[in-house]
Amino acid sequence: MYLFNIQRFSTHDGPGIRTTVFFKGCPLRCLWCHNPESQRFGPEVMHNPERCVVCGRCVSGCPAQAIRIENGTLYTDPEKCTGCGLCADECLNCAREVAGREYTADQVMDAVGRDKTFYGESGGGVTFSGGECMTAAGELTGLLRRCKERGIHTAVDTCGFCGTEDLARTLPYTDLYLYDIKCIDPALHRELTGADNGVILKNLRFLNENGACIWLRLPLVEGANASEAEIAALLELAGEIRPQRVSLLPYHNTGSFKYQRLNRDVPEFAAPTAERLEEIKTRFQALGLDVKIGA
Ligand code: SF4
Ligand code: SF4
Repeated sequence: MYLFNIQRFSTHDGPGIRTTVFFKGCPLRCLWCHNPESQRFGPEVMHNPERCVVCGRCVSGCPAQAIRIENGTLYTDPEKCTGCGLCADECLNCAREVAGREYTADQVMDAVGRDKTFYGESGGGVTFSGGECMTAAGELTGLLRRCKERGIHTAVDTCGFCGTEDLARTLPYTDLYLYDIKCIDPALHRELTGADNGVILKNLRFLNENGACIWLRLPLVEGANASEAEIAALLELAGEIRPQRVSLLPYHNTGSFKYQRLNRDVPEFAAPTAERLEEIKTRFQALGLDVKIGA
């Protein structure tokens, strides 16, 4: 399986202190994504121009001839790049890095097992995230089962764009689903994420009907999905599902530098104002739900 990070001591991906395992590859293309290096499957090279002295070592070290220098600037052709990482080995300035590497299940379990003491003391555990961890449903289910055998609390952070049968396989081994809803209007969802949300809503209801513990996670992006019509539709959905928690996630641009390093356009969005967030929070609370601003 390809992962792009294993983050220890995370406090934003479920209860307590957690280890978050980030799978690489996602079926959605959310316009505001703050982890763009998570979207594509397989390894991907990132270039930091602030560290690059344009020495050319990586150019001659690239077996795919994917790198060129023009007018003192270094370019990488994503069509030619295989993500082999040899350019990162060549670079003495650490200007190149590869996002994504292959892990075995044993390697993931070793990493996860290191902080088991902290999980117990804090009510934490392991969160499988991404990208989209459900794209590796078979491997994910194996990891979840091994965590449960070791008495580790498990959470699955998913956008829900996956087969219902795959989700069903994870159910016996998952203590908590962090379920992201990007938007309710089907046409807007396609526009903002590139995918249909029919299966996402169907899978959410499937989990709910089968007794899953769910935290709804709602990214709120001004100029994209934070309209009054969307908030009203989200309130209706939350009132139906009655998740254990609603997390309102205002847009942030901390991932902008990653777009630059991947040579992609930086998205320009904004978060709703603090007043608007508080107002939305109050409306969810009026449904009798536990609501938090932030993860
Ligand atoms: S080897 Fe590193 S510093 Fe030299 S051109 Fe390549 S990225 Fe830039
Ligand atoms: S990752 Fe490999 S193929 Fe891609 S630019 Fe670097 S050396 Fe070339």
